[in-house]
Amino acid sequence: KWRGQVVGVNKKVPLSNNRLSTYVNFDNAATTPPFKSVIERITEFAGWYSSIHRGKGYKSRLCSTIYEEARGDILNFVKADPDYYTPIYVKNTTEAINKLAYTLGQDTDNRNIIITTSMEHHSNDLPWRKYFKVEYIKLNEKGQLSLDDLESKLIKHRGKVRLVTVGGASNVTGYLNPIYQIAGLAHKYGTEVMIDGAQLIPHHPVEMSPKKAGERLDYLAFSGHKMYAPFGTGVLIAPQKTFASNTPDQVGGGTVDIVTPDFVRWHTPPHKEEAGSPNLMGIVALTEAIKILNEFGMESILNHEKRLTDYTLKRLNKIPDVILYGNKFNSKDRLGIIPFNIDGLSHESIATILAGEGGIAVRNGCFCAQPYVQQLLNISEQEIRARINNPDLPHPGLIRISFGLYNTFQEIDRLIDMVKVIVSNKEYYYRKTKINF
Ligand code: PMP
Repeated sequence: KWRGQVVGVNKKVPLSNNRLSTYVNFDNAATTPPFKSVIERITEFAGWYSSIHRGKGYKSRLCSTIYEEARGDILNFVKADPDYYTPIYVKNTTEAINKLAYTLGQDTDNRNIIITTSMEHHSNDLPWRKYFKVEYIKLNEKGQLSLDDLESKLIKHRGKVRLVTVGGASNVTGYLNPIYQIAGLAHKYGTEVMIDGAQLIPHHPVEMSPKKAGERLDYLAFSGHKMYAPFGTGVLIAPQKTFASNTPDQVGGGTVDIVTPDFVRWHTPPHKEEAGSPNLMGIVALTEAIKILNEFGMESILNHEKRLTDYTLKRLNKIPDVILYGNKFNSKDRLGIIPFNIDGLSHESIATILAGEGGIAVRNGCFCAQPYVQQLLNISEQEIRARINNPDLPHPGLIRISFGLYNTFQEIDRLIDMVKVIVSNKEYYYRKTKINF
């Protein structure tokens, strides 16, 4: 029922033999296609396009109102109390996290430790390394974080931890981290929590201000292009007080209240953090996407994607030579992201065959989470060193399928058939991919 609401899902694409095949997109963790109504809304809105907070003309005032009112829709979507939080528009999750790292990094107040995990996307790891000492929570053999290790780190570094930051869901295994328990622990030991919501927000309901006050999520970052809107818009939601007295990371038009040749008074948040003319089309697209997600219902989306995941795991598990990573059996504690390999073929070859012969788009490689993939593949220190010293060595990696709300069981059947063909003709594909790909 949702398939018809998404743009381009029935597009035909050329295979390697030049025949056309209906495209199957199992790479939604990278980017989702947009909702039809998002494209209709921005097309219709184009006629009303004008400057934000910079004019008294009718269109300009209308655009400024739409831009500001969207903040309410965004806070509402993640159940964030508008009296406490401010939503700052950014271009994506990466920019959101860099902004927060910069801001907290300017005034560490002797709390110079960030606790995170080694299952993070590089965007929730590298920005912190610029300003803080980063401690990584241990993972178990299935690749899930250990709450005990988090607690012992919080005790060991009590008074020195500026923030605990974790992905709401991993972009490699789809694991859902127990974010409310993590928030509870962070607050118990006097620090705050940030959730990288890039993978979580489009697939799972979130409450920033939950009933149990101790489990409040202090910061949340996410991207519009993973939730059925186009590229270029993301949000950082933060307590207003965090941005009350800092100097913004980017300064210029829109960030100031008073400027003289030798004096500057910054605007109040969120405006002081949104330098330059903003991306209103992106905000219009994002709020329309949120409206549609609300209409569908996040619980229903979650349930549908869980059923797709259970079905895929069950079928992949039965194919010899398919190596599944993490929890191999069901969708418990995970979203619709499944990493696997086929014994004897490279991830590069498998992804190329799936696309070229099956019209099936998956992602392969390390998914901007190299430390996590190294752990899942049990890659030794020695091997990592060898690769550092020799950039020509091939990168290890995985195949990742990731679902969107519009994917179907029939599409999964096509993937399974194709994987079976690859497995039964492994020798042939090994020789072919070695030569051709
Ligand atoms: N965090 C996670 C968990 C992600 O999956 C991604 C995107 N792959 C990002 C952060 C970065 O998102 P963006 O590229 O939109 O900044």
